[in-house]
Amino acid sequence: MTTLAVAGGRVLRPDHAVVEADVLVDREAGTILEVGPDLAGDVDATLDATGGLVIPGLVNAHGHAAMTLLRGFADDLPLDRWLREAVWPVEAELEPADVRAGTDLAIAELIRSGTTAFADMYFHVGAVVDAVAEAGCRATVGHGVITVGKDDEAAAADLEAGIAVAREYDRAADGRVRTALMPHSLTTVSEDVLRDAVAAAREAGVPVHYHANETRDEVDPIVAERGCRPLEYARDCGLATADDFLAHGVHLDDVEVDLLAEAGTGVVHCPASNMKLASGAAPVQALLDAGVPVALGTDGAASNNDLDLLGEARDAAMVGKLSTGDASAVDADAVVRMATAGGADVLGLDAGRLEAGRAADLAVVDLDAPHLAPPHDLVSHLAYAASGSDVRHTVCDGRVLMRDREILTMDVGAVQRRATERARALVERAETG
Ligand SMILES: [Zn+2]
Repeated sequence: MTTLAVAGGRVLRPDHAVVEADVLVDREAGTILEVGPDLAGDVDATLDATGGLVIPGLVNAHGHAAMTLLRGFADDLPLDRWLREAVWPVEAELEPADVRAGTDLAIAELIRSGTTAFADMYFHVGAVVDAVAEAGCRATVGHGVITVGKDDEAAAADLEAGIAVAREYDRAADGRVRTALMPHSLTTVSEDVLRDAVAAAREAGVPVHYHANETRDEVDPIVAERGCRPLEYARDCGLATADDFLAHGVHLDDVEVDLLAEAGTGVVHCPASNMKLASGAAPVQALLDAGVPVALGTDGAASNNDLDLLGEARDAAMVGKLSTGDASAVDADAVVRMATAGGADVLGLDAGRLEAGRAADLAVVDLDAPHLAPPHDLVSHLAYAASGSDVRHTVCDGRVLMRDREILTMDVGAVQRRATERARALVERAETG
């Protein structure tokens, strides 16, 4: 066993108390051995956390990493037009090398902002897995299955691709990659394929992840056609279990909130994307009050437009208050929990809490900055005042991925250049194609 001590700083405990302590890590096992005072004595390596706060690695539980290629490409459009006129025509031209370049760019941004695990629904998933394997982070990946606009044969082939990905890549990259069946949404996948996807997921022993109740335009047709709420339809398709997790849940009624609580299905709240696409405000405090597991996600960079989960936590708190008219709603403690333990729970990771036996996924936030003084309440600072650029070190699975803001596992300059080149060529193909 070789050990790493993250030493000299303060530590955010699972109960959100902040204590002066070190974190001792087993680098081979990738787990935390101990959290306590003076653990840096006889260790193989140390990471200096002096003046910093050690927090669990952040978990970005919903997104489309390679959409970094479309950052700033088409803004200020409603969801339906944004997808049909801007996003889908470009995505039709995607090649594996594009997905690799965009995912590398996303991972660089994630590591630089303290995120150690993310969920990714996209295409050419092998390229995503390669990126995760090399960068050293964790991901739950899946092929986004869409049947709208496809004939039966093409729809079946898309589902087969989703199943193949879920089976082939689960536990890849030394176990850091997990998979899910990812039917895109309740309205973009036919009922037959949705039911088949659920059956395939149960057989493969992986969760199902999907978009649900993001806009009113997604809810109304299901209510009109089926005479029930979208999540009642989802439950009828076998989609409401404690392993499954959905993105958005903006337009939920009380019946659906209770249904989620009863099933233990996780909801990934994506406040920035919901605000930018004017989709609405998810009833997050109601979900929390009902006991629904809630995580945070940035969604794709094209609808955010960054992947900074601390920024997302701030957005979650702000919109949670604004939408309810209650300043005590979705408080600092809640959003920090969503960004850490909440996300880990929803993705089924034994992470998100700095305690012995958990995955050694952590970040060190530099507190020595004007906007983080005075230190009245460091959970408040994480929620309201800190941003990803305050992260000094990032560790995943016991390995240092970023030290003093330098990513050790990637050449960030080359990643930015490659992504820029691929994005330019991609948009050109879409516009001439
Ligand atoms: Zn999404």
